[in-house]
Amino acid sequence: MRGQQSNQRIDGVRLWAELMDMARIGATPKGGVRRLTLSAVDRQGRDRFRALCEAAGLAVRVDAIGNMFARRPGADPARLPVLFGSHLDSQPSGGKFDGALGVMAGLEVMRSLNDLGIVTQAPLELVNWTDEEGSRFGLSLMGSGVWTGVFGLDHALGLTDLAGVSVGAALEDIGYAGKAAARAFPADAHFELHIEQGPILEAEGCRIGIVTGAQAQVWFDAVATGQDSHAGTTPPAARRDALVAAARVIGLVDAAMRAHGADGRGTVGQLVVVPNSRNVVPGEVRFSVEFRHPDTATAFRMADDFAPAAVAAAAACGVALELTELFRYAAQDFDPACVELVRQAAAAGGYSAREIVSGAGHDAVYVARHVPTAMIFTPCKDGLSHNEAESIEPEQAEAGCQVLFEAVLARANRVL
Ligand SMILES: [Zn+2]
Repeated sequence: MRGQQSNQRIDGVRLWAELMDMARIGATPKGGVRRLTLSAVDRQGRDRFRALCEAAGLAVRVDAIGNMFARRPGADPARLPVLFGSHLDSQPSGGKFDGALGVMAGLEVMRSLNDLGIVTQAPLELVNWTDEEGSRFGLSLMGSGVWTGVFGLDHALGLTDLAGVSVGAALEDIGYAGKAAARAFPADAHFELHIEQGPILEAEGCRIGIVTGAQAQVWFDAVATGQDSHAGTTPPAARRDALVAAARVIGLVDAAMRAHGADGRGTVGQLVVVPNSRNVVPGEVRFSVEFRHPDTATAFRMADDFAPAAVAAAAACGVALELTELFRYAAQDFDPACVELVRQAAAAGGYSAREIVSGAGHDAVYVARHVPTAMIFTPCKDGLSHNEAESIEPEQAEAGCQVLFEAVLARANRVL
């Protein structure tokens, strides 16, 4: 079986050409992509994807949150489908491969099966999840989150962007408010190929990351409230400087991260200073705080220890700190049998591989709550992502796709 599999190769040249064609939709002058979810550009990407799927003989259906499923029948119609895919939307200044790699590689898997004349036992479904990025409507992993029941459909449809356009209206507008119910249906497995978006695989010269799960996360919104006052006339004792308080809190976030070793993560990535005037002691600062760790208890403890310490640090500056916890996710382990298939597929392809925990959120993390799931990572240049300079080599895309192909084929043909 192993020997037989290794003769079956996906077409890396065709895959790369499709990736480059998709990257032209929403291309930015700096070589990146701006394909905001449910925009006219996203529609172009979706229309192209649909046309390519139909040309490959796949039956495309769309659900009520705009998730697209492209189905290839199996020999045994009673078997549950094997799902694989990712997302075609991007950050406002995103790269060509975040999400698109997993979708276009999925298409290449389907085309290769066609070329090889292979009919799998289980049906296959290639998925384009809606709004993975969350940058337009403020809710990341929207499509997979609705599908798995993490978010209500009506809640998601009612979210609006900065222009006041709702998700529901945007879906109607681009013609992707589908008829299928937006909820999880029984499936045998789910595989997602994605660029690592981090530096580990590249640094270690590894071709494939066997993703065993995703980190635990806790996210906060923070508002530090002091008092605006004159920069020239307010003496130290009278100051209630919200930015000084925020700076001390940011120091605590960084210290909490560094106290938990190489796996700890603590970030303040967003900060709004009010009134943001050079001669006013700032009275208000709004900022984000997030903690991550592969171990759920550690991630939650970082957040729980941080919160009272942060309030106390702000109070020492005469500033009130309001922390709103947006969510806390436990770490998500992927399915051992699916992870093993990825490991075997990497070995069959002759690729160096290592186990890795996903540092980012992915649709697969929500899907894993309902369907046995695993992910495949490939390296990206300098670990850079959510950036127009995001870059991978054609051989890296090909290796990831080949592993996806082998894992999907093995799962779809497994003896039940
Ligand atoms: Zn992504």
